[in-house]
Amino acid sequence: VKREGRGGYRFFSEELNISSARRVRMEAWMRNALANEGFMLHYQPKQELSTGRITGMEALVRWPTEEGMIAPGEFIPLAEDTGLINPLGRWILNRALSDAVQVARAVGYPLQIAVNLSMRQFQRPGLSELVQQAIERSGIDPSLVELEITESMVVERVDEAISTMRSLRELGVQLAIDDFGTGYSSMAYLRNFPVNTLKIDQTFVRDLVSEDSNASIIEAVIGLGRGLGMQVVAEGVETALQRRLLEQAGCHVGQGYYIGYPVPLNELIELLKHAKAK
Ligand code: C2E
Ligand code: CA
Ligand code: CA
Ligand code: CA
Repeated sequence: VKREGRGGYRFFSEELNISSARRVRMEAWMRNALANEGFMLHYQPKQELSTGRITGMEALVRWPTEEGMIAPGEFIPLAEDTGLINPLGRWILNRALSDAVQVARAVGYPLQIAVNLSMRQFQRPGLSELVQQAIERSGIDPSLVELEITESMVVERVDEAISTMRSLRELGVQLAIDDFGTGYSSMAYLRNFPVNTLKIDQTFVRDLVSEDSNASIIEAVIGLGRGLGMQVVAEGVETALQRRLLEQAGCHVGQGYYIGYPVPLNELIELLKHAKAK
């Protein structure tokens, strides 16, 4: 049963009706893209707010097709439904980690690489072996790898989720809770999760300037994360003012269009070379 209530049901069934033909077509395209290197990764820089240094990046999958770029918001759910997320996720992991090694070589210092995991990937047995393999193949220092999971993945079957998180942490990788503050509230569980980083959802950052309540929420979340010894990251930073307010509130890292757009690997390398020269 879906939790969204009536609105959620309606949206769910409409989506199925409207797009079933498109979904069938897309699934075939997706298989084809997987077999032919048809997906690509963009990288969005992450900035340490106190120093202005770019210390890491998030891998975001892109799918260029004849119909233009299809957004991950559309094809990731379909990949989840069809199971294609498993080979796709494996490709993303391997590519992101080896690209991160390439970035470090090109710019002369190591950067952290954040990779999104989907629900189905997270719940599938053998995830840590997959991550281990990607680490070995790329030769990356595992402490530079951060895996992003969402609250909804960990609030169901909490014990299983915690043991999965532990086995990932044993590899030496970092874990982040993405989109924090949306949907489910896991405040109570949070301290039991072996998580290093909280990523504040962009909806809170968006209205930071106009709505006092959002400023309070952000300050509370930053305080919570810091209090638990976590790194706090804000996503969706689009203006200088948002960036400054976040820095003042004690947020460690910022990510968003103001700091940098998601770009292909070669553009990220250029950007980093310039940032370093400054
Ligand atoms: P997310 O992980 O929360 O990623 C952040 C999204 O916000 C990205 O959208 C990014 O392009 C966008 N964004 C970055 N800065 C700004 C900003 O300043 N303002 C605004 N309005 N948006 C910003 P994108 O790339 O379309 O990805 C959407 C979602 O798709 C991601 O949300 C994530 O849940 C999923 N996704 C993307 N790449 C992957 C992947 O490689 N694997 C998996 N499993 N999911 C992915
Ligand atoms: Ca993310
Ligand atoms: Ca997010
Ligand atoms: Ca999101």
